[in-house]
Amino acid sequence: MTSEIAKLKEWVDGCDNIVFFGGAGVSTESGIPDFRSVDGLYNQQYKYPPETILSHTFFLSETAEFYRFYRAKMLALDAQPNAAHLKLAEWEREGKCRAVVTQNIDGLHQKAGSKEVLELHGSVLRNYCMRCRKPYPVEKIASGTGIPKCSCGGTIKPDVVLYEEGLDSYTINKSVEYISKADMLIIGGTSLAVYPAAGLIDYYRGNKLVLVNKSPTPADRRADLVIHAPIGEVFSQL
Ligand SMILES: [Zn+2]
Repeated sequence: MTSEIAKLKEWVDGCDNIVFFGGAGVSTESGIPDFRSVDGLYNQQYKYPPETILSHTFFLSETAEFYRFYRAKMLALDAQPNAAHLKLAEWEREGKCRAVVTQNIDGLHQKAGSKEVLELHGSVLRNYCMRCRKPYPVEKIASGTGIPKCSCGGTIKPDVVLYEEGLDSYTINKSVEYISKADMLIIGGTSLAVYPAAGLIDYYRGNKLVLVNKSPTPADRRADLVIHAPIGEVFSQL
C-alpha cells in the first residue's frame, strides 16, 4: 500500500460523513467504455460523432439511428459492480458514506447496494413515453429493434440527459446539499472536465478533498490528497 492510500484509509476510518463524486472512470473498470475517449472507433461505424448522436436534436430528428447507436454502445446490462461500487455501498451501510453523486448512467452503484445515489445524467434503466409518461424497463429498449413505442403510440425516451438538455434541478440541488455538508469529499474517475457537474466541487467546504484518477486533473492543486491510480485498485485496498 502506498503512503497516499494509507492516508486515505486513515481518513476514511475516522469519518462518518463521506460524499463520493464519480465519473466515467468508475464504470470503465466494470468494462463500460467511456465513449468520449474512443471517438475514432465509432466514426467507422456511424456517420456522426457520439456527441451528435447523443443530442436532443438528433434524438428527435433521427430517432432510429439514435437507437441503433444507443443499443450497441450505451447499454451494458451484463456489467457488474467493481471494488469501488462495492466499497461505497459498504460504507453507506456502515453509516460512513452519505451519498454517491455520479455522472454515470449504468445503475451500477444501486446494483452494488447503494441507496442514496444522485444520478446527474440520469439512468439507462429508466425510460418513459414522451406522450403519456408511462415508464418502461430497460429490457423494453434492449430487446426490441427500431424505435421503441408505447402502447399509446408515443415514442419511448431513455431518462438520460442528452447533449443540449439541462440537468435535473432536484438532483443538482440535493448533490450541492450533500457536498456542502460533507466532512470528506472523494472525487473518483473523472477528469473534472464536464460542466456544470464539475462545478459541484466548488461547494465543498471541508479540508479532506481527495482526488483519485488515473491521470492528473485541473483540480489536483486544490486537493488535500491526490492519488493517480485506477479507482477500483485504490478502493480494493481500503
Ligand atoms: Zn404512452
